[in-house]
Amino acid sequence: MKDENCIFCKIANGEIPSRTVYEDDDFRVILDLNPATKGHALILPKDHYQNLYQIDDGTAAKVLPLAKKMAVMMTKKLGCDGFNVLQNNNEIAGQTVFHFHVHLIPRYSSDNQSLVMPPCGMTAEQLDAVRDVIVG
Ligand code: AMP
Ligand code: ZN
Repeated sequence: MKDENCIFCKIANGEIPSRTVYEDDDFRVILDLNPATKGHALILPKDHYQNLYQIDDGTAAKVLPLAKKMAVMMTKKLGCDGFNVLQNNNEIAGQTVFHFHVHLIPRYSSDNQSLVMPPCGMTAEQLDAVRDVIVG
């Protein structure tokens, strides 16, 4: 299903031009307009899912194999030194476009990017409590 008001639906389905680097029946992979590094790309499903909470299992199952294929291909072609795969859900987590997408971010020893996560500082007891909440 497409969402008439969604820009990534239009891009994924070719109604708005994009710098496509891969396409199949289910996905289009495009270059990000404001890349974090050279080659930063986005995996877009052609159907509309707002985020990871909503994506259907069949589509979700195809995402990681595609991310792997793209990472291998792009690493070979771009000569990057590593790779981040990132996926944001909801505004608090940095999601700005509400059509599920996966960031493919080639990393270079010279890129001066910092996609680091400072630890929030939890005690062993706090970790135990969080585990109990999740599995309880
Ligand atoms: P997120 O913050 O995870 O929702 O990521 C949205 C990403 O989409 C950002 O990295 C934007 O630079 C990128 N973006 C937004 N609009 C476009 C567009 N029209 N074409 C390509 N990338 C876009
Ligand atoms: Zn959409």
